[in-house]
Amino acid sequence: MRIYKENINIGQTPMGNELSVLKYTIDSGNSGKTIYIQSGTHGGEITQWVLHELFSYLQNNLKRGKVILVPNANPVSWLQRNYFSTNGKFDMYMGKDWNRNFPGNEQGSLGERIASVLFAQARQADFVLDLHTSRLSLPFSIHFNKEMRKYAEVFGLEYNQFIDTTIKTSYKDTINASLFAVDVPSLCIECGSHDAYEPENINLALDGIKRILQHFNQIEDISVAQICKKQIFYDKTITYYAQTGALLRFKKNLGDIVHIGDELYEIYDNNDLGKKKLGFAKHNGILFKISPTHIYWSGDEILQLINT
Ligand SMILES: [Zn+2]
Repeated sequence: MRIYKENINIGQTPMGNELSVLKYTIDSGNSGKTIYIQSGTHGGEITQWVLHELFSYLQNNLKRGKVILVPNANPVSWLQRNYFSTNGKFDMYMGKDWNRNFPGNEQGSLGERIASVLFAQARQADFVLDLHTSRLSLPFSIHFNKEMRKYAEVFGLEYNQFIDTTIKTSYKDTINASLFAVDVPSLCIECGSHDAYEPENINLALDGIKRILQHFNQIEDISVAQICKKQIFYDKTITYYAQTGALLRFKKNLGDIVHIGDELYEIYDNNDLGKKKLGFAKHNGILFKISPTHIYWSGDEILQLINT
């Protein structure tokens, strides 16, 4: 067992400080597959809880091949702090999602240069996991090509989304879709909620990673948990939007099964003090994503349902 730490340069700040990402290589010393796992493309998405646990586990359990860990794939997005919130979803310089720059361009924008360095690392692996979080959310996997569904089945979360990049074309520029274009299989894992510590969800992600390592014969651990009994695969989600600017209070929780006519949230309109209105479900589904705020402008996303 050997562990290497390497700083990879991704650019330079205007003040001349080096920008770099830290890469860990955990090498079993035996031949086998290489798995690349990255966290932190988007600022404030603290999936590194999973890597802290995984690192200790690998030191004792990795039998074959290598695991590459990049805990903070984008140090720039983590600088986007405002009071107590870190919201590094978009490159503020050009308004672009940090995960829409792949496969990158070493002569391009800062985001494309970072993507280019990460992509060069990731594409050398036999399998890639890109870890994220999403608002207030249940954990779920995303695959961008139907051929990747088999890995979502191995990872074993309950909720598994397929995003068709021929319809939602902007997703073509994610790391996962770009890796598929060069024949490297991968999954995106949404590990739970933004800037949260959710021990159950951390364990779900960790168990999924162990099943992937088991699948590629990198570990031999009979105690690895079984996959979720009832996996749900979906491609359609329904988004509810605020019809008017207002304050909202939710009446349902993540994971709740929702029926048409159910009360989903209370609406407090400041043009009508003392009266609360209700937002009702217009679909049957599972509440899997909630916007992490009470404050809504007209047209803001409130929640997402998996249509059942
Ligand atoms: Zn993300």
